[in-house]
Amino acid sequence: EAVLRLTGVSKTYNPGTPGEIRVLSDLDLSLAPGEVVGLVAPSGSGKSTLLHIAGLLDTPDAGEVEIAGQATAKLGDRGRTRLRRDAVGFVYQFHHLLPEFSAAENIELPQRANNVSASAARARAADLLAAVGLAERATHRPSELSGGEQQRVAFCRALANAPAVLLADEPTGNLDPGTSDQVFGVLMDLVRETGLSALIATHNLELASRMDRVLHLSDGRVVAD
Ligand code: ADP
Ligand code: ADP
Repeated sequence: EAVLRLTGVSKTYNPGTPGEIRVLSDLDLSLAPGEVVGLVAPSGSGKSTLLHIAGLLDTPDAGEVEIAGQATAKLGDRGRTRLRRDAVGFVYQFHHLLPEFSAAENIELPQRANNVSASAARARAADLLAAVGLAERATHRPSELSGGEQQRVAFCRALANAPAVLLADEPTGNLDPGTSDQVFGVLMDLVRETGLSALIATHNLELASRMDRVLHLSDGRVVAD
């Protein structure tokens, strides 16, 4: 049983115009429980488009996206939003933390949006921060944290609602190489400890080599390493 399955997914931007660009073409992809898969492809090859479609932030022109065993083609906006909140965690190159809230609050907010009690949300935020070595930073705002620390908080936020799958788009692409390696190690430990499935786009082949499987995007399709 796959945690994430894309079947025959196609996406064309600006169809029928001179700017038409076919980004994904009858693409198939599947993630087993606990599997960590790297997605390595040059800029402009459709990684973000693929991650957005996989995370129900965008819809394909054709094909099916299945998350945690649930087909999504017939879901309405509310159903898609609910499944996304319950089952998908996102990490981007930039942390996108809310600047006026503390590290802990940034991790509590998505839980509160999912009707988790304040005390349970606080406890989970503390556990997650401890897991990434930031127990002492819980009350710091993002501007008081280093780039690597901000990104570690963003990982915690992505995992706050115990998603089935983590989708990450260049999660350490914003950091200098040394920090990137270290912070990537933190992410991998966190993913492994929680048994999470993850699809992680990266340019960094060295980082990709630490994953279970590496896929490439070529002509809008997935090619195994
Ligand atoms: P990557 O993440 O690999 O850099 P993207 O998925 O962002 O690739 O983009 C793939 C291609 O689709 C690029 O040529 C990009 O310019 C184009 N593209 C992405 N989003 C849009 C959009 N909303 N409208 C038109 N073209 C887009
Ligand atoms: P790095 O060397 O990892 O880039 P920094 O030099 O930015 O880290 O920060 C070192 C430490 O100081 C970090 O633990 C960070 O939390 C803390 N720190 C950085 N900026 C601030 C700030 N404006 N207020 C409080 N603490 C800060």
